[in-house]
Amino acid sequence: MEKCPVCKEESKGKYWCKSCRTVFVCPGQGCEYEIRKRGLDDCPKCGLLFEDYLTQRKMYRKCPKCKKKQGLSDPQCRYCRYWFNCPTCGHKVPSTSMLTCPRCATSLR
Ligand SMILES: [Zn+2]
Ligand SMILES: [Zn+2]
Ligand SMILES: [Zn+2]
Ligand SMILES: [Zn+2]
Repeated sequence: MEKCPVCKEESKGKYWCKSCRTVFVCPGQGCEYEIRKRGLDDCPKCGLLFEDYLTQRKMYRKCPKCKKKQGLSDPQCRYCRYWFNCPTCGHKVPSTSMLTCPRCATSLR
Protein backbone atom coordinates (compact mmCIF):
# COMPACT_ATOMS: atom_id res chain seq x y z
CA MET A 1 0.00 0.00 0.00
CA GLU A 2 1.15 3.50 -0.78
CA LYS A 3 0.62 6.70 1.08
CA CYS A 4 -2.56 8.47 0.02
CA PRO A 5 -1.97 12.08 -1.08
CA VAL A 6 -5.39 13.07 0.27
CA CYS A 7 -5.63 11.61 3.78
CA LYS A 8 -1.94 10.65 4.22
CA GLU A 9 -2.80 7.12 5.34
CA GLU A 10 -0.94 4.18 3.88
CA SER A 11 -4.07 2.76 2.35
CA LYS A 12 -3.86 3.79 -1.28
CA GLY A 13 -4.39 0.93 -3.71
CA LYS A 14 -4.07 1.03 -7.46
CA TYR A 15 -7.56 2.40 -7.94
CA TRP A 16 -8.66 4.05 -4.72
CA CYS A 17 -7.77 4.76 -1.11
CA LYS A 18 -9.36 2.43 1.38
CA SER A 19 -9.58 4.91 4.19
CA CYS A 20 -10.86 8.13 2.59
CA ARG A 21 -12.32 6.48 -0.54
CA THR A 22 -10.74 8.88 -2.96
CA VAL A 23 -10.70 7.31 -6.41
CA PHE A 24 -7.48 7.77 -8.40
CA VAL A 25 -8.11 5.48 -11.36
CA CYS A 26 -11.56 4.35 -12.44
CA PRO A 27 -12.02 0.68 -11.47
CA GLY A 28 -14.58 0.12 -14.25
CA GLN A 29 -13.87 -2.77 -16.55
CA GLY A 30 -11.46 -1.70 -19.27
CA CYS A 31 -11.82 1.94 -18.33
CA GLU A 32 -8.74 2.81 -16.25
CA TYR A 33 -9.52 6.49 -16.59
CA GLU A 34 -7.29 8.63 -14.41
CA ILE A 35 -9.41 10.67 -12.02
CA ARG A 36 -7.64 13.98 -11.49
CA LYS A 37 -10.57 15.88 -10.08
CA ARG A 38 -11.49 15.10 -6.48
CA GLY A 39 -14.99 14.59 -5.15
CA LEU A 40 -16.53 13.13 -8.31
CA ASP A 41 -19.48 10.76 -7.86
CA ASP A 42 -18.95 8.98 -11.12
CA CYS A 43 -16.36 8.42 -13.81
CA PRO A 44 -16.35 11.09 -16.56
CA LYS A 45 -15.43 8.44 -19.11
CA CYS A 46 -17.57 5.35 -18.45
CA GLY A 47 -20.11 6.73 -15.96
CA LEU A 48 -19.42 4.21 -13.18
CA LEU A 49 -20.84 5.33 -9.82
CA PHE A 50 -17.92 5.02 -7.42
CA GLU A 51 -19.94 4.80 -4.21
CA ASP A 52 -21.77 1.60 -5.18
CA TYR A 53 -18.65 0.03 -6.55
CA LEU A 54 -16.50 0.80 -3.54
CA THR A 55 -19.09 -0.37 -1.01
CA GLN A 56 -20.70 -3.34 -2.78
CA ARG A 57 -18.77 -3.92 -6.03
CA LYS A 58 -21.86 -3.03 -8.02
CA MET A 59 -21.46 -1.46 -11.44
CA TYR A 60 -24.11 1.19 -11.71
CA ARG A 61 -24.47 4.42 -13.58
CA LYS A 62 -26.86 7.29 -13.30
CA CYS A 63 -28.60 8.42 -16.46
CA PRO A 64 -27.62 12.04 -17.15
CA LYS A 65 -31.09 12.72 -18.47
CA CYS A 66 -33.58 11.11 -16.08
CA LYS A 67 -31.12 10.50 -13.19
CA LYS A 68 -32.28 6.92 -12.67
CA LYS A 69 -29.73 4.36 -11.54
CA GLN A 70 -29.12 1.22 -13.57
CA GLY A 71 -26.54 -1.32 -14.69
CA LEU A 72 -23.41 0.07 -16.33
CA SER A 73 -23.34 -2.42 -19.17
CA ASP A 74 -26.51 -1.26 -20.91
CA PRO A 75 -25.79 1.12 -23.82
CA GLN A 76 -29.21 2.77 -23.47
CA CYS A 77 -31.21 4.07 -20.49
CA ARG A 78 -33.99 1.60 -19.78
CA TYR A 79 -36.25 4.32 -18.45
CA CYS A 80 -35.99 7.30 -20.78
CA ARG A 81 -34.18 5.51 -23.65
CA TYR A 82 -31.31 7.95 -23.70
CA TRP A 83 -28.26 6.44 -25.43
CA PHE A 84 -25.13 6.47 -23.27
CA ASN A 85 -23.10 5.08 -26.14
CA CYS A 86 -23.79 5.04 -29.84
CA PRO A 87 -25.52 1.75 -30.80
CA THR A 88 -23.44 1.53 -33.98
CA CYS A 89 -19.90 2.55 -33.12
CA GLY A 90 -19.97 2.58 -29.30
CA HIS A 91 -18.81 6.19 -29.10
CA LYS A 92 -19.76 7.89 -25.83
CA VAL A 93 -22.60 10.33 -26.38
CA PRO A 94 -21.30 13.50 -24.71
CA SER A 95 -24.52 15.40 -24.23
CA THR A 96 -28.19 14.71 -23.57
CA SER A 97 -29.23 17.02 -26.40
CA MET A 98 -27.47 15.13 -29.19
CA LEU A 99 -29.75 13.60 -31.77
CA THR A 100 -27.07 11.86 -33.81
CA CYS A 101 -23.73 10.27 -32.99
CA PRO A 102 -20.91 12.81 -33.49
CA ARG A 103 -18.69 10.08 -34.94
CA CYS A 104 -20.84 8.01 -37.28
CA ALA A 105 -24.08 10.06 -37.47
CA THR A 106 -26.37 7.20 -36.35
CA SER A 107 -29.70 8.55 -35.16
CA LEU A 108 -29.98 8.42 -31.38
CA ARG A 109 -33.71 8.85 -31.17
ZN1 LIG B 1 -6.91 8.49 1.48
ZN1 LIG C 1 -14.55 4.79 -15.89
ZN1 LIG D 1 -32.64 7.94 -18.49
ZN1 LIG E 1 -21.62 6.26 -33.64
